[in-house]
Amino acid sequence: MTDSCLFCRIVEGKAHARIVHEDERLVAIEDINPQAPLHVLVIPRRHVATLNELAAEDDGLVGEMIRRAAAIARARGVDQSGYRTVFNCNRGAGQSVFHIHLHLLGGRRLGWPPG
Ligand code: 5GP
Ligand code: ZN
Repeated sequence: MTDSCLFCRIVEGKAHARIVHEDERLVAIEDINPQAPLHVLVIPRRHVATLNELAAEDDGLVGEMIRRAAAIARARGVDQSGYRTVFNCNRGAGQSVFHIHLHLLGGRRLGWPPG
């Protein structure tokens, strides 16, 4: 959508990323700075800046994102040991790229509450 958005550039193939999955609506990539042995980002192709911009008609898209994360967790063998999915919304929660993405973390023990 915009060249100023890193994830728009990645989903359009204009910036490099290690792609884990691609379909009509989603792209999943390896996080460049992994916080766990498995750290994948599930990104919609359409630019949505934060969760606050989601509308009722996006429910299907968000469901696809979560089910894709679960499928990747299963493919990577962490579905039974455990994994975490996280959306950070806005800076106070740690969002640094303003194009929504679902973090999928696994492969180590994950503490609670998160920092
Ligand atoms: P946020 O902080 O917005 O919730 O998550 C952004 C994530 O994107 C971070 O985990 C960060 O490591 C990752 N990231 C930032 N720049 C790049 C990049 O150029 N390539 C990839 N693959 N991940 C990135
Ligand atoms: Zn974008």
